[in-house]
Amino acid sequence: MRPFPSLSEALRRAFGRKVWKIPLDAGFSCPNRDGALSRRGCAFCNERGSGTGLAASGLSLREQWDLWRDRLARSRGADRFLAYLQSYSNTYGPPERLAAVLDELRGLPGLAGVCIGTRPDCLDGGKIALLAGLKLPWVQLDLGLQSADPATLTRINRGHDPACFARAAEEAASAGLLVCAHLMAGLPGEGREAFLAGVDFINDLPVAGVKLHNTLVLKGTELAKDWAAGEYEPPGLPDYAEWAAEAVDRLRPDIVVQRLCADPAPGELLAPAWASDKAGVLAAVRAGLEARGFAPLG
Ligand code: SF4
Repeated sequence: MRPFPSLSEALRRAFGRKVWKIPLDAGFSCPNRDGALSRRGCAFCNERGSGTGLAASGLSLREQWDLWRDRLARSRGADRFLAYLQSYSNTYGPPERLAAVLDELRGLPGLAGVCIGTRPDCLDGGKIALLAGLKLPWVQLDLGLQSADPATLTRINRGHDPACFARAAEEAASAGLLVCAHLMAGLPGEGREAFLAGVDFINDLPVAGVKLHNTLVLKGTELAKDWAAGEYEPPGLPDYAEWAAEAVDRLRPDIVVQRLCADPAPGELLAPAWASDKAGVLAAVRAGLEARGFAPLG
């Protein structure tokens, strides 16, 4: 049986112990929302931009950190953490802003590393150097690719093309950052082949990790309008489970799989209904993986 290339195992190898992620909201924006590129956003994204919303509620990074850290320490005995800047595009804006945020992160107690979510067009050599200058054992750039098809990226108003992703991934990896690519299954006009073409695209790049997402129709998105008009329907669970298992099977074996499905925020999901049952989705994907010879996931 083949071992499943999981994040928890990769973190155990890197740190010799279990390490927990803490989601942080640094209050960044996104050029695809604030008008620099567009005000519409990506077709699948609503105004929360995948965020926790804690920055908007006035909590500093340190206060957000302490909130989660205390909770995890009490409930799980956790003492080492990755700071995950998840909301919007966390390298957007002037480099001084990013430098100030990174300075705040440096002082967080129990910090083992960072994961920074962003767009590939919000990076340059200076910002990559700032991130590499953190000198932590785990500095991960969560970079949205979503699809390797330029026509799909245009259709979903992504605002960058696959070549932009490839340039950013190459530059970040050569500076020593771990690049984690985000890839979506079932985007408008896409099926199994297009999703797997995204896997092939990633396999040719210096990518260390991947997050696989089933496309969600969320309230307040462009995709919700298409879905309501009958112009878009997300794939069913059997298809997604099969595609995701095939994607893992097809990935370069050194690429760590950090996510197997999307996780809608409470009250936001319109379709597909099956996506609200995360445990059920994971069970279906895991069954597909085991059928392909992967060891059962713990
Ligand atoms: S998905 Fe990311 S890049 Fe696209 S609009 Fe939302 S926050 Fe911006």
